[in-house]
Parts: sequence; structure tokens; C-alpha cells
Amino acid sequence: MSGLTTKRADVLVIGGAIAGCMAAAEAVKHGLKVILVDKGMMGRSGSSPTAGTATAAAFSHSDLGRDLPEPDSPQLHFLDTYKAGDGLCDPRLVALCVEEALPIVRELETFGVPWTKTADGRYFQYKALGHSRSRSCHPTGSSMTFMAAIAKEVFYRRAEVVEDTMVTDLLMADGRVVGALGFHRLTGEEVLFQAGAVVLAAGSATRLFKYASANFQTTGDAQALGFRVGAPLVNMEFVEFTVIPKVAQKIISTGGISPFTGRGSHIRNGLGERIMETYDPVRLERTTRAQLVRAIDREIREGRGPIWNDSSHFTEELWQEFHTSSPEVLDRLKAAGLEYRRAPFEWVPAMHTCLGGFLIDERGETAVPGLYASGECAATIHGANRLSGNATTECLVFGKRAGRHAALFDGLYR
Ligand SMILES: Cc1cc2nc3c(=O)[nH]c(=O)nc-3n(C[C@H](O)[C@H](O)[C@H](O)COP(=O)(O)OP(=O)(O)OC[C@H]3O[C@@H](n4cnc5c(N)ncnc54)[C@H](O)[C@@H]3O)c2cc1C
Repeated sequence: MSGLTTKRADVLVIGGAIAGCMAAAEAVKHGLKVILVDKGMMGRSGSSPTAGTATAAAFSHSDLGRDLPEPDSPQLHFLDTYKAGDGLCDPRLVALCVEEALPIVRELETFGVPWTKTADGRYFQYKALGHSRSRSCHPTGSSMTFMAAIAKEVFYRRAEVVEDTMVTDLLMADGRVVGALGFHRLTGEEVLFQAGAVVLAAGSATRLFKYASANFQTTGDAQALGFRVGAPLVNMEFVEFTVIPKVAQKIISTGGISPFTGRGSHIRNGLGERIMETYDPVRLERTTRAQLVRAIDREIREGRGPIWNDSSHFTEELWQEFHTSSPEVLDRLKAAGLEYRRAPFEWVPAMHTCLGGFLIDERGETAVPGLYASGECAATIHGANRLSGNATTECLVFGKRAGRHAALFDGLYR
């Protein structure tokens, strides 16, 4: 083959967003040659950079050294997650995820992720949709700040990063994965990756739907790559919708509704009624995302649309906190010409996340020897419904696990 470059790695990571960066940063700690390949740019492609990167982690009294108004624990986080997933979550994976959430939040601080803190130095945490406790941590700045800190760690630990290169096939020999084939998007040059183990972390398939909250081409590459070499996919029927703002007939990618409802926004129909008083009088707008989307969809279908965001009761202090911890959300609304403090704006349903993916075990291993999967392309903790903030936690925890175990894979050549 002409124009073919060959690269050799102990561990090849496909995808350079939250899950892929965590996998590469962890695998390289074992003194191995690690290559991370991305069809875009590491830290700047996929759902991750457009996300809110709210990260669910249960802090207990002792972690904070003082009393919380509502004490939290990994056990409560487990129960919320399992209940939301309609019992279709893998309980072993959920237990691992909620236990490892807090240590990984702290580890990310050593990477330079600037978690938003309260005036007295505590982690700022809000009660996101469907959670029984305030446990969503949020990086100050934007998801780009979060991604930059994790991507920096991949460079710092000296993994090789290959960008603008789209992987099109996984390569098999003797019943195990031995590498991948791809091409450079700009030059067309083909690249052959020989690898001892491969971590698939190439995200979701949300862009297969007409309206999606992510603005990057998340086109199901990972699922196709793994499925073609025999890795089973599960829960693929569970896709999650969110609602996103529509301003002047334009869809604005802001990371979903939780930054507003988590802070107490009211959702009103075209008649001015606060719709969640009908659909979930107890949790109101803090119900699960699936409930909220169903309610909004029903109101629209039954002719009571459009659906509006009402944050007119937010205090100056709350707006300031919102602006400090999620400036990109408000900046995007402002750039669209919206006076978001005063003017209500419309919410419309859009595809958000794929909950299904590769069947993996605690090590992140698929049924194909040498092939690991993590992040949104793997089915881990969500079951039939994902709680806000749990996806970032899942990507971090299982990205790290997949990286570690790919590095320890039995068949790894040296
Ligand atoms: C708008 C929005 C807001 C969200 N907000 C939150 C939130 O606040 N909290 C939360 O928990 N979850 C949130 N989510 C969900 C969460 O962000 C995603 O589940 C998570 O970012 C997925 O990360 P990932 O690393 O698995 O994949 P992605 O971030 O999608 O990254 C996949 C990477 O793989 C690369 N890639 C894809 N195909 C190929 C290929 N063929 N070859 C090479 N590279 C490839 C891509 O370029 C990309 O870099 C949000 C999602 C969206 C869309």
C-alpha cells in the first residue's frame, strides 16, 4: 500500500475526550508506549467539550470536615442511579462508579481542574435532575477548561497523540485485537496502528438524529468498529433526549437544561402554567431528565407549547454564581442575542446521549480479547435512564479503569 505509515504501541486509545484522555493518562503510568488517536483534536472533539461537565460525586461529612444540610454517601448515590435506570444498570459497575467518584474528583484537582468552590472553601454542588442530594460538582470556567486540564496530563505523561486521524477498522489476529487502521483526514494518508491492546473511547451516536445537543460529529464510529469484530452491544434501544434552547429559530448548544433547573428555573407552557406541578408535584423541575422531556413533549403535542424557561426569580447572587461556574452557557445565549436575565426563552427536545454500548466488565474489557471500551460507547451505569452528572463520572472512572487494565492485558507484547 502506498502512503501507509505504521505506528506501534502497547496500548492504542481511540478517542481523545474525557474517557480516552483518562485511559491514556492511566495506561502510560505503566511505563508503556501509548498512542491516543482522534479524528478531531484531543480535548476539542466529541460531546465532552460541548458538555456542562457537571460531575456527580457523593461527599460525606468526613470528606468536608463539617455537617452537610443533607448528608450524602455513595450508597445514596447508588440508590438514585439504580432507581433512575429502572433496575437495568449493572449493579457491580454502579457500585464501583459511585465509590470511585470522589477520589477521582480529587485526583482531577491535581490535574488542574478548577472545581467551583463556595466562599468557605467547600466544593460547590447543586442538586441536579433526579438526584436526592446536592452532588453535582462543576468546573469553574467551561468544559474547555476541564478538557484542557485532562488533555494536558496526556501530553505531560508523554503519550503520543495522533490527531485528525479517523480509525475505520480494528484489526484481529488469532482471535484478539492487534491494532487498527485509519487515515489522515486532511492528507488521506493511511495509518496502520499495531497494538497490544486497544481502548475504544470514541463516544456516542447522537448525530444520527436530526436534532442533537452536541455540535460535533458523534456518529457511532466506536459502536461500528467494535461490533464488526464481535464485541456485543447492549441497551442500544435506550437513547436519551434533553431539551435545548431555541432562540430566534436557532438551536443553541448549551449543555442541556440542568444548569437552569438545577438552580431553580421554572418551566412554563404557552398558557403560562408551571407544567411540572402537574407531572411531578414533589420534585417539580428537579425530576429526572426523562420525566421532564416527556412532560415537555406531551405539552407540545397537546397544543400547549411552546415551552418557556422562566428564571425571572433568580437573585443577583445566583446569576453571579451561574456566570462564574458556567460562563459558556450564558455566553452562548447572549451571543444569540438573548437578554437571558429578563427574557424567557424556548426549550425544544433534542437527542442528547446514547445509554447503550459495549458490554464491559469491571476492567472495562469487552468480550473480544484485547479490546476495552469506556465512556459513552460503553454501557455501564445508566440502564434505561441517565442521571445528570453521572456520564462525566462514568467516563472518568471507567476511562481510568480501561486504561489500567489494557496496560495489564495478559497478551500484551513487549
Ligand atoms: C451538550 C451536552 C451536555 C452534556 N452535559 C453533561 C454534564 O454536564 N454532565 C454529564 O455527566 N454528562 C453530560 N453530557 C454527556 C457527556 O458529556 C458525554 O457522555 C461524555 O462527554 C462522553 O465522553 P466520551 O469521552 O465518551 O466521548 P466524546 O466526548 O463524544 O468523545 C469521543 C472522541 O472520539 C473521537 N472519535 C470519534 N470517532 C472516531 C474515530 N473513528 N477515530 C478516531 N477518533 C474518533 C472524537 O473526535 C472525540 O474526540 C452532556 C452531553 C452533551 C451532548
